Amino acid sequence: MNSMCVVGAGTMGRGIAYTAAINDFKVILNDVSEASLTNAREYIELTLEKSAEKGFIDPSKLYKIKENIAYTTDMEAAVSNVDIVIEAVFENIELKINIFKKLDELCPEHTILATNTSTMSPTEIGASTNRPEKCIAMHFFNPVHKMKLIEIIRGLDTSDETMQIAKQVGEKLGKETVEVNEFPGFVTSRMNCLIGNEAMNMLMEGVASAEDIDKAIKLGLNHPMGPLELADLVGLDSRLRNVEYLHRTLGEKFRPSPILVKYVKAGRLGKKSGKGFYNYNK
Ligand code: NAD
Repeated sequence: MNSMCVVGAGTMGRGIAYTAAINDFKVILNDVSEASLTNAREYIELTLEKSAEKGFIDPSKLYKIKENIAYTTDMEAAVSNVDIVIEAVFENIELKINIFKKLDELCPEHTILATNTSTMSPTEIGASTNRPEKCIAMHFFNPVHKMKLIEIIRGLDTSDETMQIAKQVGEKLGKETVEVNEFPGFVTSRMNCLIGNEAMNMLMEGVASAEDIDKAIKLGLNHPMGPLELADLVGLDSRLRNVEYLHRTLGEKFRPSPILVKYVKAGRLGKKSGKGFYNYNK
């Protein structure tokens, strides 16, 4: 396993591509949007330079790492010769299924197809292909190069070999892995969406300010980040899609907080748009 295509160059796709490139994978980053690819390239090159300045990356390797990544809107060319594809497009089941169907047609027979879904069923996504045994979920965390975990979720027909390969890819990316049985939201998103939603409801009810809710959870419960600043980092649109899926599949306790719905309608998407529960434009 040393060549990878990442489909979707948003928050997660660019982070996965960066992490793979610094760990010696040849990576092709694919997106339907030229603008997304341009932003991804800027993010990746800036992150590389900052990491070299801070001593995390040997500056003499910068050129080679940059050469490890190609950027294209042409999916057919992107996947014609890769060992693994990691899909990181919007959290929408129809979109993911369509992409997996297309990938199944375009990829070589041996290629593993992994989805970075936060909540959805790898069984359902894999069933749309003729290779469900080679389909799996690999759930990365944001920011990918700093977060240590990948949750790996096996679909009903995923083979043991695919599971082993996913674990090895995780190891090569410098990550710890956990194996989780398929259930909506797995371990982390199910827990995180609930905590985040409750924090948003508290903010709406006037229990405390955003700053004090986050401070209470960090200093009182020892979380490294508050739930509202974390939601801003994830992207409030992405978080809303996750909570809506969990509401549909797991029921009432996941009803999206009205304040989250309102912020997304207003275009307040968190850090990526400059404003969410906090203002990043100051
Ligand atoms: P995002 O909105 O930042 O990016 C999505 C990207 O997908 C965009 O660049 C878009 O142009 C691209 N895209 C849409 N349709 C496409 C297509 N047909 N072909 C190729 N590219 C296409 O989303 P994100 O936050 O990076 O989330 C991506 C996935 O990762 C989702 O499944 C999400 O649940 C999951 N995830 C997100 C986070 C997070 O913190 N944001 C963490 C873990 C997992």
